Amino acid sequence: MENFERFPLTIYNSLSRKKEAFTPINTPFVGLYVCGPTVYSEVHIGNMRSFITFDVLFRYLSHLGYKVRYVRNLTDVGHMLDDDGEDRVLKRARLEKLEPMEVVQKYSNYFHDVCKQFNLLPPSIEPTATAHIIEQIQMAQKILDQGMAYVSNGSVYFDVEAFDKKHGYGALSGRKIDELQSNSRKLDGQDEKRSPLDFALWKNAGPEHIMRWPSPWGEGFPGWHLECSVMSTKYLGETFDIHGGGMDLKFPHHECEVAQNVASSGEAPVRYWMHANMLTMNGTKMSKSLGNAISIEELINGGKFSRAFSEMSIRFFLLQAHYSSTVDISESAIEAAEKGFERLQQAWKALINMERSSGEANMELDAATKKLLDQVYVELSNDLNTPKAIAVLFDLANTVNSIKNQQIPGSSLTEETLSRLKLEFPKILEDILGLKLSSEAKSDHLDGVLELMLRMRNQARADRNFALADQIRDQLKDAGVELKDGKNGTEYELN
Ligand code: ZN
Repeated sequence: MENFERFPLTIYNSLSRKKEAFTPINTPFVGLYVCGPTVYSEVHIGNMRSFITFDVLFRYLSHLGYKVRYVRNLTDVGHMLDDDGEDRVLKRARLEKLEPMEVVQKYSNYFHDVCKQFNLLPPSIEPTATAHIIEQIQMAQKILDQGMAYVSNGSVYFDVEAFDKKHGYGALSGRKIDELQSNSRKLDGQDEKRSPLDFALWKNAGPEHIMRWPSPWGEGFPGWHLECSVMSTKYLGETFDIHGGGMDLKFPHHECEVAQNVASSGEAPVRYWMHANMLTMNGTKMSKSLGNAISIEELINGGKFSRAFSEMSIRFFLLQAHYSSTVDISESAIEAAEKGFERLQQAWKALINMERSSGEANMELDAATKKLLDQVYVELSNDLNTPKAIAVLFDLANTVNSIKNQQIPGSSLTEETLSRLKLEFPKILEDILGLKLSSEAKSDHLDGVLELMLRMRNQARADRNFALADQIRDQLKDAGVELKDGKNGTEYELN
């Protein structure tokens, strides 16, 4: 029996606005698309919250036994948002005196470094907008052919009203076209667009625009929403399982994606839409444009708060909130998370070398422990409830730490349950939640192994088996550990 049958997953679907049982189109295969960053500047910790959320989803789906194709794009064409008029990549290239593609490469590398720091798994495919220009032109042409777009002055615009008449616009965000119209600014007559709600599928490039490609409508570049419609369906099929992204992308970006796909293929592209909520600072959304974004460096190396924090403490802090709620970041909140994570790490370390002592098991505690281990998966399968899963891990850690501190007998758990705990507790933390033991904890662990090697070598010497004793010394040396025999016994040094 696969884990996904034992612990069936439910997901809050932003499209139906309900929690639903997750059933992939073609079990056990799952297609997952997540909007990646625009690589024109450093990602900040608010951006990383969404990527960490979907990293855990990817890990958990895989753990449940699904075969996941995880596509996360890089937006490497600088898009202007409708109102602010300047291409972000070009602006950055001008400021840093770089080629646009140098800007893109620099911040793609940066993003990958940060993903590694926070222990994110790489996606199965990481497509870029610039590598899919032909497909974007094809989709824009298809939408034109369907009568739901128009050409104006070398640009192609999506005709929201025409789309609305045929298919209905606003399914995902719940926004109605007449309300949107009354809230949007009036066109000034100079505008290429017929309606302020229309958005660009293709933009005519002015002479100053360096990133440009030929198209049937003249030289230009694709609109932002189009790349995700193209790259998600190219790799996952016209209708695929899960599309994720930050809450701020739901409208207009994801709404426009839906409209483009429906207009071109007639099919709704996504069955489950998932949105990770915002990271806030003093209750305000963190964003670069508001100037309150916390950089990764400020957190890891210090500068924002009175001290620095490790990547894993921050990851743990973020996972202690459900992805659908907002989280307010503060020094005291990360510190509290760090303490909690330390307690889990103590149990994690203790389990590595824990052996059951002989004696009677406490069958009540044993049954409760088994139930708690199942409970972790039940919570994760309940719309990825990481805070509740972590709360259960704390309960399990209490038992482990009590055994370690000899507050309860070392025989309290049966051999079977202890083995299961030794196997699953680290697996949940490491493989599913993507956390790593701190390096101090790791060196403690190494200390334990080295102590064991030293004891074996001493025993060999006591047995006058000098060949074995020398072999242990030489092989440790090859592995970078030098043994020194002195007055106080043998000491070791790591090289
Ligand atoms: Zn996107």
